[in-house]
Amino acid sequence: MFNAINQQIRRDQRSVIKRAGNKILPCLLLCCGGFERLVSGHSISLLILQQYLNMHTLSEKVKKTSFFEGHNNPLIISGPCSAESETQLMQTALQLQALQKVDIFRAGIWKPRTRPNEFEGVGTIGLQWMQKVKQETGFKLVVEVAKPEHVEEALHYGIDALWIGARTVVNPFSVQELAASLKGVDIPIFVKNPLTPDLKLWIGAIERFQLAGINQLAAIHRGFHYFANSPYRNAPMWEIPIELKRLFPDLPLITDISHISGKRSLLQEIAQKALDLETDGLMIESHFDPDSAKTDAAQQITPFELGKMLDSLEIHNPAKSENFALPLEKLRTEIDKLDGELLLILAKRMEIIDEIGAYKKANKHTILQHKRSQHIIEDRLAIGSNLGLDQNFLNQLIEIVHDASMKRQNIIFNKP
Ligand code: PEP
Ligand code: MN
Repeated sequence: MFNAINQQIRRDQRSVIKRAGNKILPCLLLCCGGFERLVSGHSISLLILQQYLNMHTLSEKVKKTSFFEGHNNPLIISGPCSAESETQLMQTALQLQALQKVDIFRAGIWKPRTRPNEFEGVGTIGLQWMQKVKQETGFKLVVEVAKPEHVEEALHYGIDALWIGARTVVNPFSVQELAASLKGVDIPIFVKNPLTPDLKLWIGAIERFQLAGINQLAAIHRGFHYFANSPYRNAPMWEIPIELKRLFPDLPLITDISHISGKRSLLQEIAQKALDLETDGLMIESHFDPDSAKTDAAQQITPFELGKMLDSLEIHNPAKSENFALPLEKLRTEIDKLDGELLLILAKRMEIIDEIGAYKKANKHTILQHKRSQHIIEDRLAIGSNLGLDQNFLNQLIEIVHDASMKRQNIIFNKP
């Protein structure tokens, strides 16, 4: 049995087993349930073993790359959401260069848009403008690639690093195609998180590049699509990048504060939070005239504003050491999520209350029906008490919700 399993373990994974020695099996036994096979007297699932090995192989291979050495700490990536014209790129780049705080110049050449007929990027000509920016400013360049043809063109025009966008990372077929197109190429790849809060999918994408031989890898946290209303364009859900960092401490993590924030007023707060959590880099969209930007105008800032913001950030805050910030942040994020769900449920409840109101009106029922109200109060009190909630709190909560519901029905009744 052991031989059968052994054959399915890659050479690079074997070295992980060797190094892990006796630690690996007890560790697997601790983490996993549903064991199916026997290995050296322990039952474990082959699938789980493969997952464990993949994680640890990645973890051992991904090292802080030279790309992060000799740069600002944190690494600062900035430039417009999209390349729009040579003037826009050059003006923005020159103003960024004057700050002397930016390491890498970014611009989107091919833009993945939600609807057809929106501005989809300037394409290849933008790469020629990027080349000129490099010649003028000396900036290293990074662009987004979503297809093997993009990779080919970007490499042809001497782009120094590539990022994989959130819409691409959700699709393992696309990621695999990109990884295959990069086989044998030594270029840093920055993998954004997928749109959905799915850590495994994010790790999977990183692994695909690692397995294709890319060693200069970094992750970009750009927030997640979230169903409830939130002040952010993409909910940061900090616990996810924190968990990624816990699993892969050597994988550099960059925070894309622009796509998390969605608006200028939130950038500083998000940047500071990212720094408190010891991010390795910040990605910030900038434009010499943000209001005229063809994409993401609301979140782009001028290079001058970027300079001011970077100056205002506290790079190291010993009070927020890892031990303090990480667990607290995890718990707070959980609370944010639960509150969002709570409000969503309340909003749904109110919609149904409106429907009941309309029905009562049409059928000439009264709004308040005492028997029903009494039942609701007793039933919810019993459920809440069983869940360990305080009686007083429950009474107040039920009353508030009930009153608000009656008020909504009154409005419906009083409509002509
Ligand atoms: C971008 O960086 O401009 C972009 C499109 O990002 P994301 O893939 O995170 O939406
Ligand atoms: Mn953008």
